Amino acid sequence: MQKYIYQIKDFSLDNDSLLLNETLFHNANGYLGVRSNFEEGYPPGYNSIRGQYINGFYDYTTMSQPEKLYGLFQEKQIMLNIADTQGIELKVEGERFSLFEGRVLERVRTLDMKNGVTIREMLWESPGGRRVWIKVRRMASFEILPLFLIEYQVTPLYFSGQLEMISSHIGEVMNYCNPDDPRVAGESFKYLLPEWEAIEDGNSFMLMKTSKSELSVCSAVRSTLDKVPQKNGIILQKDFHTDQNFLVECSQNETITLYKETVLCDSIRYPEPVKAAQGILGQIKTAGISVLYQKQREYLNRFWDECDIEVFGNEELNISIRYNLYQLIQSVGKDSHCNIAAKGLSGEGYEGHYFWDTEMYIQPFFTLTTRDISKNLIRYRHTTLNYARENARIMGHRSGALYPWRTIMGKECSGYYVSGSAAYHINGDVAYAVISYYLATKDLDLMKECGAEILVETARLWMDAGNYYKGKFHIHEVTGPDEYTCLVNNNYFTNAVAKYNLKWAAKSIELLVEKGMADELLEKLKLSRDELDSFKAAAAAMYLPYDEELGINPQDDTFLKKKFWDVTTIREEEKPLLLHYHPMYLYRHQVCKQADTVLAYFILEDEQDMATMRRSFAYYEQVTTHDSSLSTCIFSIVAAKLGDIEKAYAYFGESAKLDLFNTHKNTRDGIHTANMGGTYMAIVYGFGGLRIKESGLYLAPRLPAKWEGYQFCIQYLNAKIKVRVNAANCEIELLEGEQTRIYVYGKAYYLGKQKLKIETGDSL
Ligand code: BGC
Repeated sequence: MQKYIYQIKDFSLDNDSLLLNETLFHNANGYLGVRSNFEEGYPPGYNSIRGQYINGFYDYTTMSQPEKLYGLFQEKQIMLNIADTQGIELKVEGERFSLFEGRVLERVRTLDMKNGVTIREMLWESPGGRRVWIKVRRMASFEILPLFLIEYQVTPLYFSGQLEMISSHIGEVMNYCNPDDPRVAGESFKYLLPEWEAIEDGNSFMLMKTSKSELSVCSAVRSTLDKVPQKNGIILQKDFHTDQNFLVECSQNETITLYKETVLCDSIRYPEPVKAAQGILGQIKTAGISVLYQKQREYLNRFWDECDIEVFGNEELNISIRYNLYQLIQSVGKDSHCNIAAKGLSGEGYEGHYFWDTEMYIQPFFTLTTRDISKNLIRYRHTTLNYARENARIMGHRSGALYPWRTIMGKECSGYYVSGSAAYHINGDVAYAVISYYLATKDLDLMKECGAEILVETARLWMDAGNYYKGKFHIHEVTGPDEYTCLVNNNYFTNAVAKYNLKWAAKSIELLVEKGMADELLEKLKLSRDELDSFKAAAAAMYLPYDEELGINPQDDTFLKKKFWDVTTIREEEKPLLLHYHPMYLYRHQVCKQADTVLAYFILEDEQDMATMRRSFAYYEQVTTHDSSLSTCIFSIVAAKLGDIEKAYAYFGESAKLDLFNTHKNTRDGIHTANMGGTYMAIVYGFGGLRIKESGLYLAPRLPAKWEGYQFCIQYLNAKIKVRVNAANCEIELLEGEQTRIYVYGKAYYLGKQKLKIETGDSL
């Protein structure tokens, strides 16, 4: 049980730690997310990002471009703070509870990842000397997605007396902003306009409408006490602010519990949000809270069973790893109306936008463990394909689709196009995820339903964006993953994924044709044999930069000509560089924010020989700052691939602790979901050496010296496979499903009923 508990005892009350813990202990279920704010609030002068969000629920806001050049976006979407239903004020014999007054004798915050709840427990002595034990349990239900529950318990110790609890519901809230940080919104507006409010059967309902996107959301709150109170009144304090007041006489050691259920229904999923919220409140009442706790446990039991992962003999590390995976299941959308935001549902960093983070860093985890989620992520990209087509036209392309660099509902939200819209590799990333899903499942139905259309439309874009020059296919004026090097020709990563994208666009159609499943699509896309051949030809002719003298792949055509910036000379106070240097200054140097060419070595390793990759890796290590949280996990995987396990281990450590130790100093604005997926990948793809290719499943497990061993589980085709590694052997076991052929250290094996036991290798 302890294996799934993340806990902080004597949690600090300084403002920075409070903000950090608001993120770290947030509750979410992929549909809604609630920051872990104190129900009772902080004293005046303290900063808090008090927020509740719905995945995919947005409004438009203007993005003023100082110069209105053609095609620059003037509008973006923003994930909204919906309502504040967290408030519970407690008075103990008239004294207001606050951790900043009286004496706090004990305090603990817990995230229980098996039961899917967070808990805050406090032993508090009021200024007047009355002691109470307070326990607050919170849950975002995986069973009933619109439900967020607070169970607030108070036990008077050494006295009997009167408790008062005031449970509030505030409809008019604002989004957080910070004009000095480009990673959060620079300004905020009143996005949600009050439409209607009512108190019905003692429950508070508010309906708000967005200012521009024509969406609405109903927040409904029911507060009940487990003991008949002396007084219970619900009143409208002021417009769109209700308070429900409970006064109760309580004996010494008697525990009083307030249950506060919040239901958030948006008009994207519920055409009649108020009716839906009323219905759901009724459903909860019938089911009962204990049933919901039980369902929560069952959901998470299944989840942990599917993605089981463990490092032997290192419990602290296991908790960090599980913390990362738990955040992924909390954050990822559970329907095709939404995706997974860079910060999940834990904060407002990057305004709730979805990036390539999904496909390259997070989706691999779901493809290998919980496929239905991976399918949804592909379907989300398919439902937004028309916006991607529209985006391509705005960018001047006559055919194809260009996925937006950052978005919520499908339209581009990049303000600074240089490191936004120009990141064309997003197309290749989406395509890569579709292909990876197919290779892991061989699910041709999904390919027919939406995968192939995505592949063809993204491939068409490459054909239009690139051109032949001296027999090679070039792609100019794009930005690769590294955002400290912008608008370049022939970014290695972009060209490599474009090549793969083009090759698979043709192949996916051929596979469907072979099975007689392509007719409708061929007609819909007006796809000819000639066009498929042109994809193949461009893939075959794709130019991938190579420098003869250094024997490495330059990041792009001009990277190596620029001034070299040795990252070991960067002072701590200059990090991250993006907050201290003009972008132009950065672009003029050989300095990388994150893995770029190195990432291509992981996902498309067969493009280069080992010697080239080894030299290039060493080269990019000298110029990469890892200012992006998407970097160290990839360096870890590639270091492992190159056989440097201890280096891989060091990079992995950076990745595993990033949010829990707030190493990027901005976790207060939200978790870094891409890095969380990256931590998983660093174990399974890095140390485990897993790759899924057309030719099959490959494993090449290695063990860091500091570990006794590790194990993980994956789904491949129809098989559930467990890999268990220690210094002597790796055991590969078919837990469920069909027998299959796999490759271990490059050698083919048949994985049947008999467990495979193979000597653990130390290099490839
Ligand atoms: C990274 C991008 C990433 C974005 C959202 C930026 O700092 O450079 O690669 O997509 O954060 O996580």
